[in-house]
Amino acid sequence: MKFITSRPKLPPSAAEMADGPWFNMWRKQYWPINELNIDAVLYWYESAEKSIVWRTIVEDVDRFSYDSKEEAKRKIKKRFGEIDDKQSYYTEAPSQGFCLVFKVKSLQRLNLPKPDEFKFPQQGWLSGEHEIAQKWLEMEIADDSTLDEIIPDGIPIERLRQLNNVMAGIPSARIKKIVSQTIRNDTILVKALKDLCHFSCQFPNCNVRIPKKDGGYYIEVAHIEPVSEGGRSVLGNLLVLCPNHHKEFDYGDLEIIEQTIDYLHGKLNGEEFEISLPSA
Ligand SMILES: [Zn+2]
Repeated sequence: MKFITSRPKLPPSAAEMADGPWFNMWRKQYWPINELNIDAVLYWYESAEKSIVWRTIVEDVDRFSYDSKEEAKRKIKKRFGEIDDKQSYYTEAPSQGFCLVFKVKSLQRLNLPKPDEFKFPQQGWLSGEHEIAQKWLEMEIADDSTLDEIIPDGIPIERLRQLNNVMAGIPSARIKKIVSQTIRNDTILVKALKDLCHFSCQFPNCNVRIPKKDGGYYIEVAHIEPVSEGGRSVLGNLLVLCPNHHKEFDYGDLEIIEQTIDYLHGKLNGEEFEISLPSA
């Protein structure tokens, strides 16, 4: 089972997230007080960021009724440890009611922006089965996912923009890991890149584009690290180039000074160059 829960602010560190305990105190037995169980996948929506920022797994959970907040605090402490009783989830809790308390583990930092127009339920919980939640979570980057799998449906240029937005929220160490993963179907990305560059050569001061009789343009996509040397068709290793610059890249004396997902700085046949992907 998957759940999304909302908090105004969330800690940036995995250690603080895992520290917990987390709780909700309600006047009634609201959903999912009886549905949240150990091993449920719990996503965390940070309303200040308008984004899901963590994926966790519920490690321990308890629910009980209480007749005073002090009693609830004692019960939480006994099983899960001390809570911060200055937080609004305690100070503004009903004086009697029901408490859902849990701890989480297996943390993965995410950046899944909330779909436009969607208002997070006031109770602060959303089922992963909800139609909107399913779409929302499709954007997630699983550890074993490939780039084409994490690009949501849409027109190619939008896919690339969404992907870059997703990438922007991931620590650089992780980006390195993701861009090194293979794209199974690289044609989507290649097409999106060509679109993004308006089918013109990205090499500085070139901008060549070759008209075709069907009204479109011919342009090539080069691998910065050659395929023959293990280079892959991933963002950060692809460049939109005219045929001349493509061949110069392939056969010339190429030295890469800096390479990120959307920026390339290098030396080609003795001349330094910088290329930035036109970003969203
Ligand atoms: Zn060129």
